[in-house]
Amino acid sequence: MNSKDLFNESKRYFPGGVNSPVRAFKPYPVFIEKAKGSKIWDVEGNEYIDCCLGYGPLILGHSDSSVIDNVCSQASIGTAYGAPTENEIKLARMVIDRVPCAEMIRFVNSGTEATMSAIRLARGCTSKNKIVKFEGSYHGAHDYVLVKSGSGAAALPDSLGIPEDTTKNTLTCPYNDEDALKKLIVDEKDNIAAVIVEPVMGNIGCVEPNNGYLEFLREITEENNILLIFDEVITGFRLSSGGAQTYYSITPDLVTMGKIIGGGFPMGAFAGKREIMEMIAPEGNVYQAGTFNGNPISVKAGISTLNQLDQDFYKNLNKKGNYLRNQISEIVDNLDLNIQTVGLASMFQIYFNIEKVTNYEIAKKSDIEKFSIYFHELMDNGIFIPPSQFECNFLSSSHSNEDIEKLLIAIEDSLKIAWK
Ligand code: PMP
Repeated sequence: MNSKDLFNESKRYFPGGVNSPVRAFKPYPVFIEKAKGSKIWDVEGNEYIDCCLGYGPLILGHSDSSVIDNVCSQASIGTAYGAPTENEIKLARMVIDRVPCAEMIRFVNSGTEATMSAIRLARGCTSKNKIVKFEGSYHGAHDYVLVKSGSGAAALPDSLGIPEDTTKNTLTCPYNDEDALKKLIVDEKDNIAAVIVEPVMGNIGCVEPNNGYLEFLREITEENNILLIFDEVITGFRLSSGGAQTYYSITPDLVTMGKIIGGGFPMGAFAGKREIMEMIAPEGNVYQAGTFNGNPISVKAGISTLNQLDQDFYKNLNKKGNYLRNQISEIVDNLDLNIQTVGLASMFQIYFNIEKVTNYEIAKKSDIEKFSIYFHELMDNGIFIPPSQFECNFLSSSHSNEDIEKLLIAIEDSLKIAWK
């Protein structure tokens, strides 16, 4: 069956025909047959250079041979034990050696579980109930944080089914606005357990912190006895081996991780200072549990991925990212378009918006109709990116120089058509 027929069939079984909202683009999403390295193929046999990369986990590209060998050998000796393994210790050490704030860790199954548990822990250990999140930040699909979210939820700032009693404890504030947070903290400081932040906002496109903003967050939280949680589900092992906290030299109290840590398999984690993490059950009284926590397949995939991410790896990958962004900017300048190229390391996006995007309000002014034309043109030119202006695009180490040159030609052609 072709993608169109599969989508019609899919709609009979899945709400909207998909299992996660952002996948449902118009007129119908392509159905995927297979992927390898930097490429992905749909059921029609079309080949695409993939800059969606599973929304971030695949920093090595699809089906890296060492990851797959390790996963297969693990699969043949068990896929779930419900008991601890030595490999969990190995992966924990790898994370703790790399990530500055991590002294102890708990492995979970997704980024959503990681932020839900980290927030519960922050509340448990401060005996306060409120949290602050930033407008447009996305921390997963659980009730505490589905308020003014980005990503697939950008169009649904709130969801039905979330009790007001839950969201009354979630305060929001514009990102990169020091005064707004200062004011919130003056009003509420005795009630705020934690500030949770995506150090680079990857769910409204790609928005970097203003100079000094993360330092400000660190200082104001410390001064007011509020925990600082970096949600590094995207930036962890992406910006550098220690994630955003190493990239920007700011150490939060807790970090949440997902995506790359599972090497392309379902996994999340939260980690932080020992005295905080010791409050997690069974050592402490903040409950967290999971049948698949520390799953041996995901752990093995994580180990074989992190093993490859040394300094040279980031140097080479980020060089490709810089080159790509510079070239896109040059294309945009030559065509004299009112759009901007953003990103850092191996993350990039084009905003169909000339105003410098520093927060959600400005991001929302982007021309999403033009973006949609651009997205479809890219697909016609053999490039697959997330189908939304409010997601980030990624490069992997599998992307060759030739891929990048093809990508640039496709971007130029697609921008010309989108802007007509
Ligand atoms: N936090 C951030 C910053 C994310 O980008 C995401 C997912 N894109 C999540 C949390 C949720 O992760 P998951 O989809 O694995 O539940």
